[in-house]
Amino acid sequence: MDGHQTLTHCPYCSLQCGITLRVAPNRVHLAPQDDFPTNRGGLCSKGWNAAELLDYPQRLTAPLVRDRRDAPLKPTTWDDALDRVVHAVRRSQQNHGPDAVGCFGGGGLTNEKAYQLGKFARVALSTSQIDYNGRFCMSSAAAATTRAFGIDRGLPFPLADIAAADVVLLVGSNPADTMPPAMQWFDEGRSRGATHITIDPRRTSTALGSKVHLQPVPGTDLALANGLLHLAIRHGHIDAAYIAERTSGFEQVRRVVRSYWPDRVERITGVAATQLDEAARLLGEASTAMVLTARGAEQHSNGTDTTLAFINLALALGLPGRPGSGFATLTGQGNGQGGREHGQKADQLPGYRRLDDPQDRQHVAAVWGVDPDSLPGPGTSAYEMLDRLGTDGGVHTLLVFASNIAVSAPHATHVAQRLAGLDCLVVSDFVLSETAAMADVVLPCTQWAEEEGTLTNLEGRVLLRRKALDPPPGVPSDLQILRALAERLGCRASFKDRPREVFDELRAASAGGLADYAGITYERIADEQGVFWPCPDEQHPGTPRLFADRFPTPDGRARFHPVQHRDPAELPDSQYPYYLSTGRNRSHYQSGAQTRRVRALVTAEPDAFVELHPELARRVGVGPGDFVRLDTRRGSAVLRARLTEDIRSDTVFVPFHWSGQATANALTNPVLDPVSRMPEFKACAVAVSSVDRL
Ligand code: SF4
Repeated sequence: MDGHQTLTHCPYCSLQCGITLRVAPNRVHLAPQDDFPTNRGGLCSKGWNAAELLDYPQRLTAPLVRDRRDAPLKPTTWDDALDRVVHAVRRSQQNHGPDAVGCFGGGGLTNEKAYQLGKFARVALSTSQIDYNGRFCMSSAAAATTRAFGIDRGLPFPLADIAAADVVLLVGSNPADTMPPAMQWFDEGRSRGATHITIDPRRTSTALGSKVHLQPVPGTDLALANGLLHLAIRHGHIDAAYIAERTSGFEQVRRVVRSYWPDRVERITGVAATQLDEAARLLGEASTAMVLTARGAEQHSNGTDTTLAFINLALALGLPGRPGSGFATLTGQGNGQGGREHGQKADQLPGYRRLDDPQDRQHVAAVWGVDPDSLPGPGTSAYEMLDRLGTDGGVHTLLVFASNIAVSAPHATHVAQRLAGLDCLVVSDFVLSETAAMADVVLPCTQWAEEEGTLTNLEGRVLLRRKALDPPPGVPSDLQILRALAERLGCRASFKDRPREVFDELRAASAGGLADYAGITYERIADEQGVFWPCPDEQHPGTPRLFADRFPTPDGRARFHPVQHRDPAELPDSQYPYYLSTGRNRSHYQSGAQTRRVRALVTAEPDAFVELHPELARRVGVGPGDFVRLDTRRGSAVLRARLTEDIRSDTVFVPFHWSGQATANALTNPVLDPVSRMPEFKACAVAVSSVDRL
């Protein structure tokens, strides 16, 4: 074979499938790695087509600027573009103070970039205003697992352990569509007799393969979890010895779930009491079982409590830390795990250290060579920052990396208005995303196969992204951009721009923290097919399985939390009579900024759509393929109707990968979970009408 071969990983979701890239003249060949332990030769259509954008004709290769908000973007030099950014930063901070400049990161950034962006915000910009799009997907799970287990690692065990569970309860998770290669572990379990239970308002591909499908009213998962625990107690399925030895707080939870008897849960959730009982018996009688949650359970204004309710269930059954059993949450974005560990969150320093902890500040400040008192305090969460852009006390110059917030933020039309009201919007990207198209300065950057770096997959396995080819001439990495900006801003702290050097600094900053990467090196990752954190020193083998003996809480016990059902912030009424839920589909990824530019994926799924039940369609006079208008209190969207009996007749579903009049987030409710600050993407009230009748 011609060309050289590079082992690396798919740039999209958190499974981070192992792939091989072979770069030949005028062509990059991509194939799955047969021996990589998460995908074992499998790839989904997104992965198979990931190389297409490497020679995308409209790839950004020169910085773009505009002189006025209504002027078109035009190419410029790097000096001019960076000077404009520095000028905007200085002007905003002189006029409004240090927090008038903000940074918005992404769960697709490598660990090195996420780390560097957090340092850049706190040290070079002296701003507290930094958050990232993981706030929109992982924050409720992170808050809940930290409260219950003392640590936030999506899967506290290798993916392969799923095959060993006799019963798997999947809550608001559809891996059969979103990460198909992961299904081999579920299929392996099923082939030896395992039973799967899915909770989802839609009969998804995953639900179709499950023995039991509970199809609740959107926003009622917490009641379902409390109902399952009620029955586990009633049937004598709880593990009293485990509860006594390894947990605290069960009695309060027992008191709370006493009132979640099956008939009441049926009234709240719409799930028949008999089905609830069947699920509870299957779970309670299994010798090994897992409870897995994902965005369907978490993207609610009670997402933290909902996740805690399922953790309560798992703890009462004695699952976490037992072989072939456990509780886990399935991370979504490519570096959704590592991206939430190393400092791009509003309240966080690297290694899961906290900005409000004096010792944590001291440790990280020493690594950065700055005075701990010079570090700002915690900032505001993603939507709260976006909601105040350009207003008194808000951010006036915003730097965006690896995020397409004009499409992915809730109440997207409002966010777009706020973006338009900024003094300066700076976007780093390699394509002209909807957000980049609004920017005053666009900084082109390298893409995945053109750079080196680490990512941490959904298992907490730190992986190496290797460089397979050079970027177009003059296109830097985000690390180089951040360093250049820090130097132009006159920052005295040193900013490295070689990934290995940044990773070494990250290791030192994370040492002794919960997400301890101190013992992980690029060489070890390459030799060992990834290293699981925590890994405190180079002799440490890494930690594939957490919680075997103790939980990382002060007393070593996991904590129960009593939680009560609350309705979603918006319920259907006479004006907006149905539920709207949003999510992903098989062919596209996140805001679609990349996958909507890939021919095979666009051919497979060219247009946005709304899924609705034939009964609802009849009620509103809509046939298959008709245009449908959706209205909520935030805005409207027009989409093609896709009729399916696989969805509840009171609910419509819209994937969030498209923009323009098909922007799902023009409709969604930005009300936030009080703990995680996660918006309620998964449930709001919507009106459905036929476009022809308007
Ligand atoms: Fe890429 Fe995820 Fe598909 Fe694997 S499952 S090929 S990581 S998008």
